[in-house]
Amino acid sequence: MASFDCIVVGSGHAGSSAALSAVEAGCQKVLVIDKCPAHWIGGNGYFTAGAHRTVHNGLEDLLPIVTNVSAELASRIDMDPYTRDDFISDIMRLSQGKSEKTLVETVVDHSRSAIEWLARSVKVPFTLSFNRQAYDVGGRQKFWGGMSLSVEEGGKGLIAAHQRALKDRGVGIWFETKAVALNVNEGGITGITVEKDGQRVELMTSNVVLAAGGFEASSELRARYLGEGWRNARVRGTPYNTGDGFSLARMMGAKFAGDWQGCHSTAWDANAAADAGERGLTNQFTKSGYPLGIMINTNGNRFVDEGEDFRNYTYAKFGRAILEQPGGVAFQIWDAKMIPHLRKEEYDDNVVEKILADTVEELADKIAKKGLNDSEAFIQTIYTFNDAIRQHRAEFPETTWDPAVKDNLTTQSSSMQLTLPKSNWALSLDEAPFLAVKVACGITFTFGGLAIDPQTAGVISEETGKAIAGLYCTGEMVGGLFYGNYPGGSGLTAGAVFGRKAGQSAANRI
Ligand SMILES: Cc1cc2nc3c(=O)[nH]c(=O)nc-3n(C[C@H](O)[C@H](O)[C@H](O)COP(=O)(O)OP(=O)(O)OC[C@H]3O[C@@H](n4cnc5c(N)ncnc54)[C@H](O)[C@@H]3O)c2cc1C
Repeated sequence: MASFDCIVVGSGHAGSSAALSAVEAGCQKVLVIDKCPAHWIGGNGYFTAGAHRTVHNGLEDLLPIVTNVSAELASRIDMDPYTRDDFISDIMRLSQGKSEKTLVETVVDHSRSAIEWLARSVKVPFTLSFNRQAYDVGGRQKFWGGMSLSVEEGGKGLIAAHQRALKDRGVGIWFETKAVALNVNEGGITGITVEKDGQRVELMTSNVVLAAGGFEASSELRARYLGEGWRNARVRGTPYNTGDGFSLARMMGAKFAGDWQGCHSTAWDANAAADAGERGLTNQFTKSGYPLGIMINTNGNRFVDEGEDFRNYTYAKFGRAILEQPGGVAFQIWDAKMIPHLRKEEYDDNVVEKILADTVEELADKIAKKGLNDSEAFIQTIYTFNDAIRQHRAEFPETTWDPAVKDNLTTQSSSMQLTLPKSNWALSLDEAPFLAVKVACGITFTFGGLAIDPQTAGVISEETGKAIAGLYCTGEMVGGLFYGNYPGGSGLTAGAVFGRKAGQSAANRI
């Protein structure tokens, strides 16, 4: 029977981080298994933008780990430090205080060292995310929203770096190898049973790291835990995250934790496939330009405050808001003023179907053919929105539009208030051409997971309340970190933090 010091279930960012850390900490024989075929390597990690959130002391602190900033460019960058308190309070604020505080503190306190490790040891090519996280304001690059780091080539570059590092350290990956059972005795984990080439094979190991993702790709589990309507969500990433890791953990008597009714979901191209992401365009189906415009449902009504906060703090909950609209779809709308500010990667002509018109009425006619049911209401919504903005500008003529700060350019004034405000970046829609893009809900990952010991990433037993010896968990499978909403870039960081802890804990048990 083949024997390993540590076996990691899942070839994504979290699992790869665990495997590499296990080797660095002293494990000699480490194996990664994944049920996907080789060309689906990297799980959801492959589909990411590579955005990583970390504590930092400002530009000077990040410059040594990024590859795309010349001295001249650096002199034109404005970036505030992002402190421990900022990061903790962002996660706690977005979860309405429900996140497990010690988990959050662990992620935050180890975020900067995890990034350093990814850059130095895994050789992840970090960049400053100019295209996603900065706006050019008066010739200066102004970073906003607490998150500045990305990876060259996004998730593709991230997973390629992991692959190279795993190869360099002699870690094998077995594809089309599905974990189906964990083997234990009174001392803890003794092995894992996998299905490979149609056979059940037992592998010996005293350490298993579960990094098998959530249940977002199972429409049945989505319906069971998130609600029936979630059958209609589009899967943004890998089709292989179907909750298997939780079945394995349940057999071990693991304790479940966190927001089992919640998930991360975004505005997503309504023309995208339903059951899996697309490995060419990956994250480019995301449609996050709504803070620059408005979103209207098929009844012709707005349904969220598009300017409630920076996109980083609203995008992960607005997928749900779209899913809850009639037909589970909506239209994002801009006029000529904002079209140039839309990110090319998401809104370029060859990336998304654009509906263009010279008047609001013509736009209504055109999108009626794409599912708008009430053109009159649609036109009225835009005219009312414009009226509210005119009243606000008349009362506050000195306020100016600035996408890099919360600019208080709202729809609310003493003379007119919308029932549903747009709280920032509210500009009238009155200059042709007008643009509409149809969006649906894309599910990213589920929030419910396993209870872990934050210090070791050990999976907690429901019965004893103590860690199950030799069983660890990282990535999407960790429960208790996110509830209802999520600050962009936290998932990859959390996966690396607990992956490293899992790998180190495994080495302590050989
Ligand atoms: C489109 C998109 C964009 C994103 N952008 C970002 C971003 O920019 N920043 C950020 O922080 N987060 C982002 N995320 C979220 C991020 O991808 C996840 O938080 C993170 O990658 C999860 O890592 P993981 O290793 O836990 O899971 P995954 O990377 O999904 O890996 C899980 C792996 O487990 C395998 N598996 C499942 N069941 C079994 C089994 N029974 N046996 C063996 N293997 C199994 C799967 O095949 C899969 O390869 C994005 C996600 C998507 C989909």
